[in-house]
Amino acid sequence: MITVENLIGGKFSTTDLSLVDRSPSDGSIIASIPRTKSIDDAVEAANDAFESWSALSLNERADWLDKIANALESKSDELARLEALDTGKPLDVALNIDAKRSILNFRFFADFGRNMPAETFEMENATNFVIRKPVGIVGLISPWNLPLYLLSWKIAPALLMGNCIIAKPSEITPLTAHFLAQVCTEIGLPAGVLNIVHGLGPEVGHAIVSHPRIRAISFTGGTSTGRMVAATAAPMFKKLSLELGGKNASIVLEDADLEITIPGVVRASFLNSGQICLCGSKVLVHEDIYEEFIPLYLKAVADFNIGPVISEEHAQKVLSYIELAKQEGGEILAGGNRSNRLGAWIEPTVIAGLSHLSRTASEEIFGPVVTIHKFSTDEEALDMANCTEYGLAGSVWSKTRGMEVAKRVESGMVWVNTWLHRDLRVPFGGIKNSGVGREGGMWSIGFFSEAINICQMQH
Ligand code: NDP
Repeated sequence: MITVENLIGGKFSTTDLSLVDRSPSDGSIIASIPRTKSIDDAVEAANDAFESWSALSLNERADWLDKIANALESKSDELARLEALDTGKPLDVALNIDAKRSILNFRFFADFGRNMPAETFEMENATNFVIRKPVGIVGLISPWNLPLYLLSWKIAPALLMGNCIIAKPSEITPLTAHFLAQVCTEIGLPAGVLNIVHGLGPEVGHAIVSHPRIRAISFTGGTSTGRMVAATAAPMFKKLSLELGGKNASIVLEDADLEITIPGVVRASFLNSGQICLCGSKVLVHEDIYEEFIPLYLKAVADFNIGPVISEEHAQKVLSYIELAKQEGGEILAGGNRSNRLGAWIEPTVIAGLSHLSRTASEEIFGPVVTIHKFSTDEEALDMANCTEYGLAGSVWSKTRGMEVAKRVESGMVWVNTWLHRDLRVPFGGIKNSGVGREGGMWSIGFFSEAINICQMQH
């Protein structure tokens, strides 16, 4: 069994109370983790480290990011093994998506920092110099679906811009955050620059959000938790970045190239057991190709390899949506049951015959459950895609009209003839109840810094 510890001021420690971390694959206990309630010592440590860390040049901090990336890369098999153990996802997914992207996040922001252009604005008689100062101590809170991938997406730019960090991973998946803490200690990252505390969201998470000396909160998680985070942080005028839930549509137009569309839409539906905020859980298919699409899609779903969902509790939530779908009149075309094995395994489930306004088709399920709907015009498809409180992502599949339709999807990110293809320089984030703010490239730099203008007059 693994003992996960907090990293505070360069030292590892536990707490009197602890929590257990269970494997989603078979329910066994795999780790004990601290149940942290107070973050005062972490804030002290971050405060002590801030002066010297923020005094380093951008290039020096970029070098640190590369050192972290190199150290993680040298142990990427171990990183992937821990992520697969903690989340239940197939090892190849943990290696090729989670580990790869966690390393890339550090590498990307190192390069991005080194190549950031100077921001100067000339006037006829003066020059404006935009200087980016660190915000100070920042709080980073992340969910369980892509544990280190999402946490490192916040840690890398926060470090680059000279902030000191108090990070809290999900208590359900703490292993790779602990692994990162060990790696950073091994390579000698200065004590107090990165503090990682473990525990429950309403306890240690709330302590981070409400602490007056933490000046920015970057939060990724569910919309209802995000609402609570905003209610606590906003009156304190903290900088706030919220990456929240989604209910995304994959729109298949009548001229879609089914050879790329079928595998693409199946991947968007079920990668990571549908537990990616960007997953397309509502598949909209033009009536002209619906009959051809369905058997091809179901065959590809049957061949797609998925792991369990994250926990027994989450499995119960997902199964309750399958029951709801039946009550709402849905026809189960595939799956619909628990798999016949220990742990939180649910078959990939495809449901037809529901109104796009049904609860099953409107609420975020965050599991391997997809509803499929027929449409006859672009207008109808867009109504079905946009009739939700969320606005995170979407995809359009068409040989000729993808761009035209994509522009009318109400969400922060839309793919055409692909899904989850990412350039890390572009804005990432949602509209409506899917979030506030953007991360990625210059958007992350902007969030993790205070832009100060100095206007120097030429006499
Ligand atoms: P939660 O909102 O339950 O939790 C997210 C994080 O917040 C966890 O670390 C959690 O801790 C913590 N937390 C919980 N309550 C509080 C609180 N009161 N104050 C501060 N922190 C708190 O989300 P899940 O972990 O269940 O993740 C799934 C959700 O995340 C889905 O809705 C998904 O769409 C969304 N998501 C959004 C993404 C995006 O980029 N837009 C990307 C990935 C996921 P603990 O685990 O201990 O409860």
